[in-house]
Amino acid sequence: MIDEILNKAKNGKELSDEEYLELLNIDDDEQLEKLFKIACQIRDKQSTTIKLTSTVHLTNKCQIEPKCEYCGFAEETSKKGYYNAFYRSNDEILRAVNSIEEAHIPRVSCSGGYGYKGKQAVNACRIVKQNSNLEILVNVGGDLTEKSIDQLAQLGVDTICCNLETINEEVFYQRKPGDSLEKRIETCKSVCEKGIGLSSGLLLGIGESVEDRLKHLRYLANFKTLEEIPIMGFNPYEGTPMADCPPFPLKEQLKIVAITRIMYPEITITMPTPTVGPENVEFSLRAGANNLATVIADNYPHEVKGVGSPTYGNYCEVVNVIEKLGLIPQTI
Ligand code: SF4
Repeated sequence: MIDEILNKAKNGKELSDEEYLELLNIDDDEQLEKLFKIACQIRDKQSTTIKLTSTVHLTNKCQIEPKCEYCGFAEETSKKGYYNAFYRSNDEILRAVNSIEEAHIPRVSCSGGYGYKGKQAVNACRIVKQNSNLEILVNVGGDLTEKSIDQLAQLGVDTICCNLETINEEVFYQRKPGDSLEKRIETCKSVCEKGIGLSSGLLLGIGESVEDRLKHLRYLANFKTLEEIPIMGFNPYEGTPMADCPPFPLKEQLKIVAITRIMYPEITITMPTPTVGPENVEFSLRAGANNLATVIADNYPHEVKGVGSPTYGNYCEVVNVIEKLGLIPQTI
């Protein structure tokens, strides 16, 4: 049965929800390997180039209250995270951007907390576009207005990211009681209406079901400029309300990567290195991902704590892994 479904996927045939559920419920290692292999074949048919994305965290001051239960990024949420409040100055942003370009990483993600109506994102986009040739993704969640999205469009932003995390409302509001799923969806719609590339991903392992994950993946097809899906796995951050919850199993995270690849053959599938663990980058590429995020080179001027965990992927190590697999790292 699984072989038949995988054969259909390989030949580019549409799979039904029942068939996707069969794949999502695979627990046999041999079949899992087959799933990963098909996903890689589908990716490699499009391109064997792997995108690399570095990061500038603009601020960890976030006005969401109460804070999201898993968050170790915002100020005073976790001693393992940034903990002390910071707001990067223009000069600090510029130094980080220059270091990323010098390291030949082609893309930067500029992200930060809520409460600025997108002004911090617009400012960062201006700095990136005026001083570098980097591709830029901005991610301040749903903290954007129509005006700031217009300004980002005028500045030539390449991608705007607004993760829905989960579309199960009950789980969303349990884990993100200060946030609004509706506002996030509205932000995604506005980004699409303005013709800007949208990135919108899933945070796995916060209480959603397997069916919710499938529904969420299907739901993303409503966004007409969707070009990237980050697949994030929950990791407990010490000191947060979810500190004692189990991390999302790597195998399950990889399964979602492979299934997303089958559903969206041409999409950019992003593995943020902090949420998969830098040591597991290889497995994410073997499951069909084609973008590694939070990749930091040795010349980076600031301390970095990943949003999902305090770790990140080192540029040289990541490039070595990509080349070892016979893939091509996209560098500038
Ligand atoms: S996860 Fe993002 S939105 Fe939620 S509290 Fe942390 S910084 Fe704020």
